[in-house]
Amino acid sequence: AYWPSRESSNLIVVEDLVVKYAPELPAVLRDVSLSLKGRERVGLLGRTGSGKSTLAMSILRFTDPTSGRILIDGIDITKIDLHDLRSRLTFIPQDGALFSGTLRDNLDPFKKHDDIECLDVLFRVHMITESVYQSQKSFRPAAHAGTRPSSRVANPPAEASSSTALSVTDVESKAPISLDTKVSAGGVNFSQRQRQLIAMARALLRQSSIIVLDEATSSIDIETDTNIQATIRKEFGGSLLLTVAHRLKTVIDYDRLIVLDKGSVIEFDTPWNL
Ligand code: ATP
Ligand code: MG
Repeated sequence: AYWPSRESSNLIVVEDLVVKYAPELPAVLRDVSLSLKGRERVGLLGRTGSGKSTLAMSILRFTDPTSGRILIDGIDITKIDLHDLRSRLTFIPQDGALFSGTLRDNLDPFKKHDDIECLDVLFRVHMITESVYQSQKSFRPAAHAGTRPSSRVANPPAEASSSTALSVTDVESKAPISLDTKVSAGGVNFSQRQRQLIAMARALLRQSSIIVLDEATSSIDIETDTNIQATIRKEFGGSLLLTVAHRLKTVIDYDRLIVLDKGSVIEFDTPWNL
């Protein structure tokens, strides 16, 4: 059976989790216990410094527990090879975690997908418009359908880059981008919003059963936030989605909400009951 299963009613179980960043420092998470089901959407709320990111990162073992443990679909995550764990879950950090290379490299680091699939997810997260997506797609045979054209449509000469037929145009900056667009280390040539959208597109390609999203902070405007949330609702329906949110509004229609205060869970219920 595929692990972790989407159907588990105890897909993520956190047991008495205590996290300290150093032995002499106070605990950032204090006896956190909770259980999350497959396919449910859970919002994680709390003031700045309450431990939201620490809890999210603990699930991917970016922080080690001082005591307690986390089970995913019945398996203690410290017993799983770290690379294996991280390849089966998807973490979308606040900064999107981009690396130096092309946009295609960032979307599909293990080269498992063809150009059309990569364009498809960029379109689904609203990085490219429908018309641009359609025109790009018609120039791009699927990788397995034949050899790529020797003259790459994705990398038109500079003078051709203003042609909408040939360039993927980013709806935000209007700067022409394509799958061959260079990404600098950390993705600093993209905005924070774009970095998260690219990380979301990567998550869509991977289709994992667990997605942990640490929402970008207040630098994102409400409208953008609403768009991102709409994309999430539409695209990640089959997965357990744990979203660290900065506003109640963005997760108000989720299945359940966790509220952290100074490292402790003070609420864990449906939005209706809170
Ligand atoms: P925000 O809403 O600002 O993102 P948060 O709820 O995500 O906050 P965390 O980032 O989990 O909070 O931080 C919880 C506490 O742990 C804070 O007091 C923070 O200063 C501390 N902390 C976080 N990372 C580290 C670290 N690497 N070393 C030491 N302390 C840390
Ligand atoms: Mg945080």
